[in-house]
Amino acid sequence: MGSLAGPAIGALVVALAAGSVAVIGIGALATTVSSTAAGAGQLNVDAIPAHARHLAPWVIRAGSVCEAVDPPTVAAQIDLESGWNPAAVAHNPAGRGGDAVGIAQFQTGTWATWGGDYDQDGRNDPGDPEDAIVAMGRLMCDHVAWATRGVDTGLVTGDPLDLAWAAYFCGRNCVILAGGVPASGLAHDYPGQVRSRISRYTLVAAVGSWVFPLPAESYELVSRFRTAERPSHDGVDLAAQTGNPIYAVADGVVLAAGCTSAYCDRPGSPGLGGCGLRVNLNHGNGFATRYCHAVRLNVTAGALVKAGDVLGWVGSTGNSSGPHLHFEVHRNAPPLSSATAVDPLPYLGL
Ligand SMILES: [Zn+2]
Repeated sequence: MGSLAGPAIGALVVALAAGSVAVIGIGALATTVSSTAAGAGQLNVDAIPAHARHLAPWVIRAGSVCEAVDPPTVAAQIDLESGWNPAAVAHNPAGRGGDAVGIAQFQTGTWATWGGDYDQDGRNDPGDPEDAIVAMGRLMCDHVAWATRGVDTGLVTGDPLDLAWAAYFCGRNCVILAGGVPASGLAHDYPGQVRSRISRYTLVAAVGSWVFPLPAESYELVSRFRTAERPSHDGVDLAAQTGNPIYAVADGVVLAAGCTSAYCDRPGSPGLGGCGLRVNLNHGNGFATRYCHAVRLNVTAGALVKAGDVLGWVGSTGNSSGPHLHFEVHRNAPPLSSATAVDPLPYLGL
């Protein structure tokens, strides 16, 4: 499984090979360490509606113009502006710039400054989604630079990205007059509405960016995912000594932490049901992980964890014949089920 997308995007990269920028964007994305912080996020391509998913490389390109506006941030703003509809039109009086059109809702005057035939298809038009997405990235980055200067000089106060979004919505004069993000109305709501959409478009757990769940060289892979002998084994078993720390592979929220067997105060056995002391983590964007058989847990349900945090310590509680970590990866979760389990090895680099 690739870190970015399925076959549709792969085909698109080939189709766009002549337009080198998009391909560079993909390459850079694949090696970026994932993060939920603005400026560093990887695009969760699957979150884009299917009819618009072919635009992902253009979102990545638009999200590579400056650090503050990353691809998930661009995607979130497109979602808010048009719901990914290249034919969207919002009627405005001519005195207020006229109709806002296209996937990024550009008005004629703004397009004259920031628009362009970025996809080189002979059409320079805010109704051309590829062009409009790149124009949005360029304009937003200019707004952020403007807002950063404005904050430094005392012209406006606030977070530069929030100020940039407000400027995108109502213009820089509107932000200057308000001294920042307007205190009420649609322009007030706009930055929060974009922010609330960013996590959906952020790929939290990408291949190659996870912390390994056990210390290096402290474990041995002793059982794989759904082998012929154990077709219902929905994870991998990593033998390790009792007391070895178990790490969260990525940032997340503890969905569940507790004993899932008849007892967990002593080692279990192969005849005992359940996976002993167990932690389930939700990493967002459909990724969840499960850690079983701990001797003791270090987290409780609802806790926020960072990649590398100690979730508990290796043990042999539950259905277990010796100390090991049973580790599962789930997609399209929660809830976690046999149907959502996928082979963890690619995610672990094993
Ligand atoms: Zn197992």
